[in-house]
Amino acid sequence: MNIILLGPPGAGKGTQARILVDSRGLVQLSTGDMLRAAVAAGSDVGRKAEAVMKAGGLVSDDIVIGVVSERLDAPDVAQGVIFDGFPRTTPQAEALDRLLADKGLALDAVVNMTVDDEAMIGRVAGRYTCAGCGEGYHDTDKRPKVAGVCDKCGGTEFKRRKDDNAETVRARLVEYHAETAPLIGYYENTGKLRNVDGMADIAAVTAAIGAVLDA
Ligand code: AMP
Repeated sequence: MNIILLGPPGAGKGTQARILVDSRGLVQLSTGDMLRAAVAAGSDVGRKAEAVMKAGGLVSDDIVIGVVSERLDAPDVAQGVIFDGFPRTTPQAEALDRLLADKGLALDAVVNMTVDDEAMIGRVAGRYTCAGCGEGYHDTDKRPKVAGVCDKCGGTEFKRRKDDNAETVRARLVEYHAETAPLIGYYENTGKLRNVDGMADIAAVTAAIGAVLDA
């Protein structure tokens, strides 16, 4: 099963993707994670992407499509893929259609996580992850059970993304509405779009996505 999680920054795409990896054995393909890894590695792609990511803009379609195309050549994608943060523009959606067709893969569902913009600023500005296992936390909404210790792996180091500040989130929301929101119509036309209330709590969103995927 191959699915897209669609929604603005803070909608919960990464959180739900991680849950789907654990519960359904799917592979998470997060272009944001892949680009951050490229920046950390100082690769060609990373050097081209760094400044635009820091400003909350979108990395060029050519670069992102290249990264995804390469990733889709790995054998583990046969388990099924959750596209998280991709596609983000109409040219990316069209490229994904071509890539999937070339590889004999199909898209099963597009889950559109509907949320309020203003709430996303608080969600994103307060979030952080375990440096060891990547489990996500939030300053007020989801603290570790024991302060300073990851519930999942027991790690004690945490990190925050450089672009998770109120100013950059606003820029990312503007990009979302200008470039990514049109994909709602694009996928509505394919009959594959399903809306899920992303303002509900994490377990309720997981249940709603599960119902979509099982339908
Ligand atoms: P994310 O982790 O999905 O919030 O992405 C973080 C940043 O990486 C975005 O603000 C963009 O600068 C860049 N990025 C991630 N995915 C894409 C994409 N599909 N197209 C363009 N830029 C992207």
